[in-house]
Parts: sequence; C-alpha cells; structure tokens
Amino acid sequence: MPSLINSNAAVPAPVGLLTEAKSKIVLVNKSNKLPDDYTVSLKKLPDGTNYADMKAYDAMCSMLKDSRKEGIILEVCSSYRSVERQKELFEEDMRALVRKGYSYLDAYDEVARETMPPGYSEHSTGLAFDIVALDYQMLNEKQERTPENQWLREHCAEYGFILRYTEEKTDITGISPEPWHYRYVGEEVARYIMDNDLTLEEYWEEVKQNG
Ligand code: ZN
Repeated sequence: MPSLINSNAAVPAPVGLLTEAKSKIVLVNKSNKLPDDYTVSLKKLPDGTNYADMKAYDAMCSMLKDSRKEGIILEVCSSYRSVERQKELFEEDMRALVRKGYSYLDAYDEVARETMPPGYSEHSTGLAFDIVALDYQMLNEKQERTPENQWLREHCAEYGFILRYTEEKTDITGISPEPWHYRYVGEEVARYIMDNDLTLEEYWEEVKQNG
C-alpha cells in the first residue's frame, strides 16, 4: 500500500533491494535489448484498451483509482507494445521517409531519434506507460504543466512507478524529456530512484557495482 511518508533524504540503496532488483528489474534502452527469453503476462486495464504486465497491474489500478479520488483523471494512452508491433511502427515511419527520398540508412537513423527500434522499446516490457491528462492528451512538453502530470510526479513512486526520461538526464537516458512516460520498477526501487533523482540507468550501474 502507498505510504504517506515521503522522504527526500539521499540514502544508499539497501543491499537486499539491489539483489531483488537484479532479478526483477529489466533495463531496456538504446544499448540494452529486451532479452529474447523475456516473457510478459498481460492483463487488460480497466480502460478496456491498454494492457499491463501482471507485475504492474495492481499498482496501476490503485494509482488510477486513488488519483481519481483527488479529482485527477489520468488517461493511459499507450502501454504494452509487442516487439512485432514496434517493428511495424518503426518500419511505417521509415517507409514514409524513404518515400521522401531518404536512403534506408538515413531513414533508420532519423526514425531512431524519436522511436525505439524493435526490441529496444521499454513498452515491450509491459511495465511502461504513457500517461496523460484526460483533458490534455498531447505528448509534448506542455503535458508537464497539467495538474495530472504534477500529481503523477509527486505520487508515482508510492505506487512503484518512476518518471523515466527527465529534462536533466537526457545525456544519460539518450531520450528527450517525456513527462508522460512512467515505468514500473516496484515501490522500493521507485522511491529510491525518485528520492535520489536517479535514472534507471544510474540505478542499474549501482546494482552492478554492488555485485
Ligand atoms: Zn512511452
């Protein structure tokens, strides 16, 4: 259950937490492909459209329900995407550029600036969610100014989610700021990451260094 205590103190990650994280948390980014043997166990969210992995399902439902009690109406606009679907999306964008005269190589590079190549999208884990304000669903920097997004930033860790791509850490994540993209990592890890202003990449480094 979400705790009401919100500590901002920078504390080292407990070793137990790291061990648990190592077995449960998957890092997927431009240089870390989703493992081929990675399996998802999907369940449809109450919106009837989006799927979440079972690991994140209850937490997401609680977060949606609790925020609503405070008058915050969150809309999940994108969640699980299979590697095959990611491939389709990527190739669609590439084809559009090739039609404009790009070479395949240039088209690939251009598309990869905004869209992850198949196998490299966190959305294929079933643990990543694009969440927007019901009355402002644009995926742009203004999303950050909505009360819904402010609420998410403040409370996501209580439910085990982290804000994944921040303005300050683009050099580490390699991704432009995405105030709408939240990733489930479990409550303990989420609190540690959010309280210490870390990225999942930095956290993962700590996990590695601690054996
Ligand atoms: Zn996303």
